[in-house]
Amino acid sequence: MSTIAITGAASGIGLATRKLLEASGHRVIGVDLRDVEVVADLATPAGRATMVDGVSLACDGVLDGLVAAAGLFSSYPAELVVSVNYFGAVATLNDLRPLLAKGESPSAVAISSNSTIVTPPLPDVTSCCLADDEDGARVAAEKGGSDLTYPASKLALARWVRRNAVEPDWIGEGIRLNAVAPGLISTPMTAEAEARILAVGDRFPVPMARAGTADEVAGLLAYLLSPEASFFCGSVVFMDGGTEAALRGEDWPAPLSA
Ligand code: NAD
Repeated sequence: MSTIAITGAASGIGLATRKLLEASGHRVIGVDLRDVEVVADLATPAGRATMVDGVSLACDGVLDGLVAAAGLFSSYPAELVVSVNYFGAVATLNDLRPLLAKGESPSAVAISSNSTIVTPPLPDVTSCCLADDEDGARVAAEKGGSDLTYPASKLALARWVRRNAVEPDWIGEGIRLNAVAPGLISTPMTAEAEARILAVGDRFPVPMARAGTADEVAGLLAYLLSPEASFFCGSVVFMDGGTEAALRGEDWPAPLSA
C-alpha cells in the first residue's frame, strides 16, 4: 500500500483518482477547500503552509505519491487562476518533495492542459511564473484576462516540471516528476463550457468527437504514480482525443536544432 496526497481531491479528476487509488488499496490524503482530510486554500501562502503542515502530519512525514490537481478554470478572476494553477501547484510539489524523498518508488504528477497549445500565449504571465514572481504574474494576468491566463499558467507549470524533473532534487533523489496535459474532460469545471468548446471546430479539433472522462485521466495518473511507470521522467503526456496530434502532427517530436 502506498500513501498518496492529491490536491483538488474533492471534485472531478482529483476525486476520480482518489477513488481509483483507494479501490486498489492505497491510502489517499486529500487536499482541497472542503470535504477532504486537509482543508487548505492553495491560492495563498498561508493556505500553502497549512497544506504542508496538514499533509506532513497525516502521512507521518513520508509520501510515496503526489498529484497536484487543484486548479481553477477561466471563469475565475485571472490573478486567482495564476495563483492556484501555477503557484499553488509548484508550492505543493516543492514543499512536499522532501516527504517524497523518503517514500517507496516516489512519483509526482502535475496537471497541465492541452490549452497550452490551442490558445494564444500570454508570455508575461508565463515568464513571471517561471521567475517565481507571483506579484508580477498576478498583475500580468489581470491585464491579459482569465481566458489567456489559464493556458499561460498551465504552460508555465509544464515547463517547470520539465526543468525540475531532471535535476538532482528530483530524479537525483529517485523521485519521478511528470505532467499530464488533458484535453476537454467532463468535470464540474467544464460543465458549462463543454458544448461550446466541442463546437469550436478547426481551432480545437477533437478527432474522437467527445470529451474525455475524469476516470480516463485517473487511469493515466494511477499508472504514472505506479512503479510500472519507472522510466518516466519529465514527460508531458497529452491525453486529448487526438487534438494535439491533429494540430501539431509534424511539429513534434522535433530533432535538435543546429
Ligand atoms: P474540478 O473543478 O472538478 O476540480 C478542481 C478542484 O480543485 C476542486 O475540488 C476545487 O475545490 C479545487 N481547488 C480550486 N481552487 C483551490 C484552492 N485555492 N485551494 C485548494 N483547492 C482548490 O476540475 P477538474 O476538471 O477535475 O480539474 C482538475 C485539474 O485538471 C485542474 O488543475 C484543471 O485545470 C486540470 N484540467 C482540467 C481539464 C478539464 O477539461 N476538466 C482539462 C485540462 C486540465
